[in-house]
Order: sequence, then C-alpha cells, then structure tokens
Amino acid sequence: MGKPVVAIIGRPNVGKSTLFNRLTGGRTAVVADHPGVTRDRLYRDVEWNRCTFTLVDTGGLFLEDPEFGEHVRAQVQKAIEEADLIIFVVDGRVGPTTEEEEIARLLRREGKETVLAVNKVDHFKNSQVAYDFLALGLGEPVPISALHGLNVDELLDRVVALFPHAAYEDLEEGEGRRVAVVGRPNVGKSSLVNALLKEDRVIVSEVPGTTRDAIDTFLKKDDRTYIIVDTSGIRRRSRVAPGVERFSVIRSLKAINRADVVLFVLDATQGVVEQDKKIGGYLEEAGKGLIIIINKWDLIRKDGDEAKQYDLLIRSELDFLVYAPILYVSALTGKGVDRVLDVVDYVAAEREKRIGTGNLNNWLSEAVYLNPPPSSKGQELKIYYAVQAGVKPPVFVFFVNNPELVHFSYRRYLEHQLRKTYGFEGTPVRLVFRARRR
Ligand code: GDP
Ligand code: GDP
Repeated sequence: MGKPVVAIIGRPNVGKSTLFNRLTGGRTAVVADHPGVTRDRLYRDVEWNRCTFTLVDTGGLFLEDPEFGEHVRAQVQKAIEEADLIIFVVDGRVGPTTEEEEIARLLRREGKETVLAVNKVDHFKNSQVAYDFLALGLGEPVPISALHGLNVDELLDRVVALFPHAAYEDLEEGEGRRVAVVGRPNVGKSSLVNALLKEDRVIVSEVPGTTRDAIDTFLKKDDRTYIIVDTSGIRRRSRVAPGVERFSVIRSLKAINRADVVLFVLDATQGVVEQDKKIGGYLEEAGKGLIIIINKWDLIRKDGDEAKQYDLLIRSELDFLVYAPILYVSALTGKGVDRVLDVVDYVAAEREKRIGTGNLNNWLSEAVYLNPPPSSKGQELKIYYAVQAGVKPPVFVFFVNNPELVHFSYRRYLEHQLRKTYGFEGTPVRLVFRARRR
C-alpha cells in the first residue's frame, strides 16, 4: 500500500506548522544536505516506532497559492478525503469553535481515522482543558505543546497505532515496475501517459488500485510489465474549479510512495518554478528512482544546443537531483516517448544494485587516498571500512572514528566518487556514518 499519508489540518494559528516542524525536525539527516529545499517544506517523511509515514502540513499548502485562498474549505475537505489519516489540531486556549465543530462533522461523516491534538497546553497542570474537546466526538483528545515538544510522543504513538498493519512492511504489490507520473497541472502528465499507452507493442489493462478511487494501469511491452500507479488521479478531468480539483499534492505523494520509479514531468516552455522545486525536494527524500521528463519539447525552437542549455538549467535549479537522467520528449507528437520505459528499467535496476564489500573497500581506499579527509576541530577523521547495507535506495554505511568529523563537503565528495565509479544513475544514495572503535 505504500507509506501512509497523514495530513495536519486545523484553523489558522492553532500551531499546525509548529507541530509539523516539531515532528519532522532533525529526524531525517539526509535533507539537511539541501538547505534551500528544507526551508518551507510542506511534506516530509517521519519515522516512528519502525513505521514511516508522510506528513503533510495542509495549512502551508493552502497559503502557498493565493489563488486557493477562497477555497480553503474545499482544500480541507480534499485533505480529509485523500489522506489516510488526519491530525486535527485545535487551540487549547480557545474552546471548540463552530468552524471546528463543522470540520469534526465532516471527519465523522467521512469515517476518517483522526487523532485530535489539543495544542498550546504548555503546562501539564492544564491538560484537563483537552477534555473540553471531547464534545467534537473524535475520541480522546491528546493535549500537546508543539512549541515545547510536550506529549508529542504520545501523539505519534496514537497516529502509528491507527495504521493498518501493512504500513510496517514494504509490501510488493503485484509484479512489474511501478511508475508514478508527477508534476504540476498542465505540464502534460496525462498526455504522456496516453502516449506511453499508445506505443507500439504495448498492451494495456486497468485494475483498481489500493485506494478508493485509484486506478492503476498495467502495461506490457515485449515481456516486461509496468504498473502506472493512480492513473485516474492523472487522467481524470474536472471542469469545475480548475486548479483546485485537478492538482492534489496528497494524491501525488501517495502515488510517489507506491512507486519504484517516478517520472517527474516539467514543461519545457516554463522551466523550473517554485512548485517544481517542492515536488523535487520530496522526490529526493522519498528514495525513489527518478527520471526528469522535459515535455513539450516540440514548442522549443532549436538552433543547436538547446538540450545542453536546458540540462544546465535543470542541473542548477534542481541541483539536489543531479542523479536523475533528463529526457526530452513531446507527448503530443510522440517524439522521445519510446525511450521512456527503457530508461525506467535502467533506473530501477540501478536502484536495486548491490556492490560487494571487497569491491567497495577497494574503491574506498582509493577515494581516501586521492583526497584524504581534512582534519576538523583538531581531530582527524578516520574511515575504516564501508558496507552496502541496503537497496531501493542504496544505503552505504561507513564505519569511522567519529561521525561528527564528517564534513558536509567530504560527504559530497564520497557520494560523487561513488557515483563516478558505480553509477547509481537515477537513484538517490544514502551515506550513513557510524562510530567504530578500532
Ligand atoms: P498554523 O497557522 O496553524 O500553522 O500555526 P503556527 O504553527 O504558525 O502557530 C501559530 C502561533 O502559535 C505561533 O506564534 C506559534 O509560536 C504559536 N504556537 C504554536 N504551538 C504552540 C504551543 O504549543 N504553545 C504556545 N504557547 N504557542 C504555540
Ligand atoms: P496534465 O495536467 O499535466 O495532465 O497536462 P495535460 O496532459 O492535460 O496537458 C496540458 C496541455 O498541454 C494540453 O492542452 C495538451 O494538449 C498540451 N500538451 C501536452 N503535452 C504536450 C506536448 O508535448 N507538446 C505540446 N505542444 N503540447 C502538449
């Protein structure tokens, strides 16, 4: 089923973003590598009690686009419909408001799993105020202080306890490569999916996906099988309220979580915009195979080295996705589309690749020899050996004298060398440093 998506909802100023930061802050060291991306992150993975889920701050989502301002209610409704679980945040200093009663009614009507967090309970002696919110009919409220980090462990326990058991395991759903197609509205996602389905030698069948209204499309090309996850979310058209109905961050996150490889579609005529960077930041974190698709390439006037220029633009605007191959296609004319599935296979294989320990340590000796770690705080970093501890995405553990001596730039260097030697094209790699006495 993929990682569950948990949405934080609530009125403005109740402390949603404070809670979001509290729950995600400092938990995933990986993203700290990309300061620009982490800044106003609205969705991030949280790990608690051996369970990983994707947390979404809907408050941020709605504010993000002023055009959405008047649609706040519709967006909350959407979050309620589409998230697997809701954290409903209220302000303990202000009793339940009529607005909150309305949201609670909606939650009950949808039968949505909800944890009610009564925030701004900064002193334990005040925790009984939480009971004022029993009236919302959403079970026992959890008093917390997002600001001071009080009782948030209890909140996380409650959240994780509500997940279906499957969330604990990375279940393989069916056979074949699972492919998600993501990107902003109008970049050409549905055109691309249609172009893929219309290719020569492609046989298509649709099956219900795991979520209520998700449709996955199976396609066979030669003897290979692919599953395009949640094609209904991509292909569905709505004439009402464009923008609101058609773009769903939550839906995209769920599709990404279920995928092996993500096709991240950009519009060649628009370059990289802020929303693309946000999606890209999440993609890096999600650990999926990734291919950047520059669509509408037919609209670009070509005098020679446009693709090269464009490569440079993408590499600088999305510098945290350096590992992703870039394909130039036109979903409209079909040009370039026939290569997409081949690259999906390639990237999926890279993401599953294992390097033997002997081989890896030969590489390590050489990398360290070529560029010894600089000493820091008067101490010298020693790297003893490395192992590949996992795949999908590849994880490398380096045993060192003191992990705190690993400078950001040296980590970069090692990753760069690793990729130079072994490729791992199209997949993020994780480098972990552990202390080891020698
Ligand atoms: P949002 O609009 O729901 O995302 O709310 P914010 O997270 O921006 O918080 C609104 C205000 O409430 C900020 O000034 C926070 O510092 C404050 N706040 C958030 N959590 C707490 C808390 O647990 N205790 C107190 N006293 N203030 C809080
Ligand atoms: P989605 O919202 O991302 O699914 O985007 P659509 O597939 O609905 O495409 C949005 C618009 O862009 C439609 O008018 C398409 O006909 C057009 N479009 C999609 N792909 C291409 C392309 O490769 N070239 C050109 N010129 N137009 C395209």
